[in-house]
Amino acid sequence: MSPEDVVDITILGAGPSGLAAAYYAGHRDATVRIVESLEQLGGQVAAVYPEKHVYDVAGYPKILAQELVDRCAEQGLQYGADVKLGEEVQTLERINQNGEELLAVSTNKGGPYLSRALIITAGHGAFEPRALGIDGIEEWEGRGLHYFVREKETFRDRRCIIIGGGDSALDWTLGLQDTAAHPIALIHRRDRFRALESSVNEARALEEEGRVRMRDRRVGPRPGGKAADPDRPHDLRDQPLARLRGRRCRRLPGEDHADHDRDGRGGDRGQQCGCTDSR
Ligand SMILES: Cc1cc2nc3c(=O)[nH]c(=O)nc-3n(C[C@H](O)[C@H](O)[C@H](O)COP(=O)(O)OP(=O)(O)OC[C@H]3O[C@@H](n4cnc5c(N)ncnc54)[C@H](O)[C@@H]3O)c2cc1C
Repeated sequence: MSPEDVVDITILGAGPSGLAAAYYAGHRDATVRIVESLEQLGGQVAAVYPEKHVYDVAGYPKILAQELVDRCAEQGLQYGADVKLGEEVQTLERINQNGEELLAVSTNKGGPYLSRALIITAGHGAFEPRALGIDGIEEWEGRGLHYFVREKETFRDRRCIIIGGGDSALDWTLGLQDTAAHPIALIHRRDRFRALESSVNEARALEEEGRVRMRDRRVGPRPGGKAADPDRPHDLRDQPLARLRGRRCRRLPGEDHADHDRDGRGGDRGQQCGCTDSR
């Protein structure tokens, strides 16, 4: 298909959403062109975590991310969508051609690609990890510091420290259990994880077996938990709130103290954060 061929629908982005859109469009006998800035299909799933297991796809109790996108691609492209990989959409114009109003999409490499409709499934757009705020940290990237786990083998028998408390941090604390050396350390700046409860529960169970070591800002003993280990000075789980008062406030830029307290980082159970920053 050449650029000047008019299709019914252009889909911007070939992640799971774009591939699903292509599938449904094909069902309705629409002609489709997919434009994707990466050199591969599958969006974040293929680019960021191809070797992770995904548990929340209907019909699959557990599926490897790369296998999932392979199946999405097989499903989405079965009606013969025209796929342009490695092209980033940069401009969009309305044009009139032979009395028909069309959309013209141009990329860094080609176009204009003409279509009657445009579906934008760009996800997060160009994916950028949030770097650790430490001076000179970039020197360590690829030399022990990683923002993605593309190949689990990179971490074979390595002692790993995972920083974060969301789904990715918990996913890899669990997902690298069969690869990295034990225990895998999980460091979180807050006193509550923001990941799925089932993942947190699994990680806590692994902690009891010595396969995970958690360092976080939990305040107060957790139900049935261990006492604080005096040899682990950063393990705050059993320190009384008074000892946390006077610590630097951990508000994020733009957050006020109300968020700080509500978020539980200053102390759960409705306590004030007790930080010494000016209010
Ligand atoms: C580490 C990690 C783990 C995750 N684990 C899970 C999980 O276990 N279960 C779950 O349900 N979800 C998970 N997610 C979230 C899931 O990956 C996203 O919800 C999903 O990828 C969104 O799909 P999408 O197609 O909407 O967008 P994306 O996957 O972001 O795809 C968008 C595509 O659009 C392309 N694009 C963007 N801008 C342009 C442009 N201008 N021109 C051309 N192409 C463009 C991008 O290159 C990209 O390929 C995880 C995410 C991360 C980062």
